[in-house]
Amino acid sequence: MQNLEPEWILGPEGPIAKQFPDYESRQPQIEMAKAVQNTFEKQRHLFVEAGTGVGKSYAFLIPAIKQAISGKKPVVISTNSLALQEQIYSKDIPDLMRYLNLPNLKVVLRKGRGNYLSLRRLFNAGNLAWANDEYSQLEDIQTWSETSKVGTIQSLNFVPKPSIWSEVQSDQYDCLGKKCPTYKKCFYYKSRTDSEEADIIITNHSLLTLDLLVKTTTEDNTGILPQFTQLIIDEAHTLEDAIRQADTFEWKLGSAAFLSKRAKNKKDNGLLDMLHKMSHLLNGRILDYADQANNHLTNFVKHNEIFFEKDVVDFARNDKAEEPGASVSKRIKPGNLQSENSTNLLLSLAKANIALQAIVSELRPFDREGDEGENLKEVKQALTLMESYSKQCKEIENDLKRTINVKQLEGDMLPDFVSSVDVSIFKKQPVYALTSMPIFVKKIAQNILFSKIPSIILTSATLTVNNQFHFICNNLGAYSERTDTLKLGHVFDYLNQVKMILTPQIPIDPYSNPKERQKYFDQVAAKIEKYVEITQGNAFILCTSNLAMRELHKRSREKLKRLGMNVMCQGEDLTKEQIIHEFKAVKGSVLYAVDSFWQGIDIPGNHLQNIIIPKLPFPPPNPLSEAQEEAYNIWNRGKPRDRQRNVFVERTVPNVAIKLQQGFGRLIRRKTDTGIVVLMDQRLVNKPYGKTLLNSLPECKKLIDDSA
Ligand code: SF4
Repeated sequence: MQNLEPEWILGPEGPIAKQFPDYESRQPQIEMAKAVQNTFEKQRHLFVEAGTGVGKSYAFLIPAIKQAISGKKPVVISTNSLALQEQIYSKDIPDLMRYLNLPNLKVVLRKGRGNYLSLRRLFNAGNLAWANDEYSQLEDIQTWSETSKVGTIQSLNFVPKPSIWSEVQSDQYDCLGKKCPTYKKCFYYKSRTDSEEADIIITNHSLLTLDLLVKTTTEDNTGILPQFTQLIIDEAHTLEDAIRQADTFEWKLGSAAFLSKRAKNKKDNGLLDMLHKMSHLLNGRILDYADQANNHLTNFVKHNEIFFEKDVVDFARNDKAEEPGASVSKRIKPGNLQSENSTNLLLSLAKANIALQAIVSELRPFDREGDEGENLKEVKQALTLMESYSKQCKEIENDLKRTINVKQLEGDMLPDFVSSVDVSIFKKQPVYALTSMPIFVKKIAQNILFSKIPSIILTSATLTVNNQFHFICNNLGAYSERTDTLKLGHVFDYLNQVKMILTPQIPIDPYSNPKERQKYFDQVAAKIEKYVEITQGNAFILCTSNLAMRELHKRSREKLKRLGMNVMCQGEDLTKEQIIHEFKAVKGSVLYAVDSFWQGIDIPGNHLQNIIIPKLPFPPPNPLSEAQEEAYNIWNRGKPRDRQRNVFVERTVPNVAIKLQQGFGRLIRRKTDTGIVVLMDQRLVNKPYGKTLLNSLPECKKLIDDSA
């Protein structure tokens, strides 16, 4: 058998070195690969921080391949971003297999269900009412589906309208499974079957967490992915959010109509309509229940509209956004949304559910083995669809109750979920959503991950805060007796590659005083111009709000353009991909950006030599942080001071540290890269936590700019 020892493969005499004359073996990469291998062998968990340039993909792939070849399969690899998923699947694994001259491993890329076309739903969608342009998209999807091998939206050569894709995508609540006439050709089930035999499965955090959550609710532990015992989580700093997201419920004005449309629609081919069409096969009771369900669902849609118009909008209106048109979230507290309207809403859904469950009970006797007459087949299909529809309605009823009827906490009880009304702006109009999400994910992560999967590797370039893993291990509830941690040395010479500049004379953003704020923006803009000139552009200005980004861009745009720089601002004309493309293509570019440019952007070389961060990325107060603070207060009740815990120290500062590391990390992507990082928030120098934040960044030369 091929020698699969990491030290040899990644070493100076190994098969990879033979491919590249200037190959440099990296000690941290070998160290990581050995630690991953050891963790798999001992069935433990490992948190490993590997900075940019370590080459962590190969460091976890080599032990993963070794496990798979020795029959311990499948190994599941999960990433946060689609780009990384694609890179591992299409490049890293095939390259490694070639270098190592290994037989073909079965590697399967698994995407979320909604990415796959449902052939049955596509057929049914032809019976819905469509505008001309929509119908022509539907026809194009039909033509493509006849030759497509994978049937994913990403492999379609155009981007379908969301209204179309939502009608034709695979949907767990509208799926006949093995009873489906197109089951044998089904793209989604084909990808599931493929992964049953896979050696390595590449997936993403949302599908992974959904799979693990589903497995905890099924008796035989069946989920979306096959059973596995070895898991690698890359970009693990985003795992907490992914778990929270997977357990988050969202409800909008149009959600009730969307739900009810499956039962009754304009073209009379909804589920309840179908029951009427097969009335000659069914007893009268079923049809009575169908009429009752139909009436209650109609009421449900009506009550939902009244509830949003009269209660939700009114409740959200009191909030003042930081800027016109900005998104806001307002926490729902006990009693806030409990009204006659919400009671009517919940009651109408509960009544619809009783009728739906009665239909299911009446249909069940038809599900007899061996009775396969054509008519009965139709009834059996109706039963399958009605069961999942009834299940979906029941889940929504429970989630809505949890979201609206927020409980008053008593004694030492900790809340599990926080509810809010979130207002976002779409085409200049406010869109309201009720949301309910878990406050902490520790217990969920323990339940679905650390107590279930024998061996988990969690890796990222940013896992530690102040060189400690405590923050992430604690938030995810890793068991200390079964968990190891490893922080690898840097492969870059940050001391010589980066100069950090701190500007303690720039005041703190006086965000609640609009007049003072204008002066503050003037001062920050002048400082930005100074440092952007030094690197002749080639700079990212990473802001913490859209308003700050626009104000700073507005002030300096013309001056920087006159100096010959290509100045861009996120959210203006170009998409994120177009911005990155232009930034890489045009030397001397300057980009003003917010959130999505703080992480995951890779611009090696001298087109990016300067990262300017005007303000520390503290999140604005929001329902989640408020609920977390409240939970800490409950914990602390009656405890002596020295045993009390501090939410700011334990959660806020670490989150800022991780984000700051991500922003900083955009600068140096290769050994030959050099540049400056300008951190303009004086709290880094003046506040005790500033030291923690600075200690969390790679050690580099620091300069203090004492001018105002
Ligand atoms: S099996 Fe389910 S997902 Fe596949 S085509 Fe049929 S209904 Fe759609």
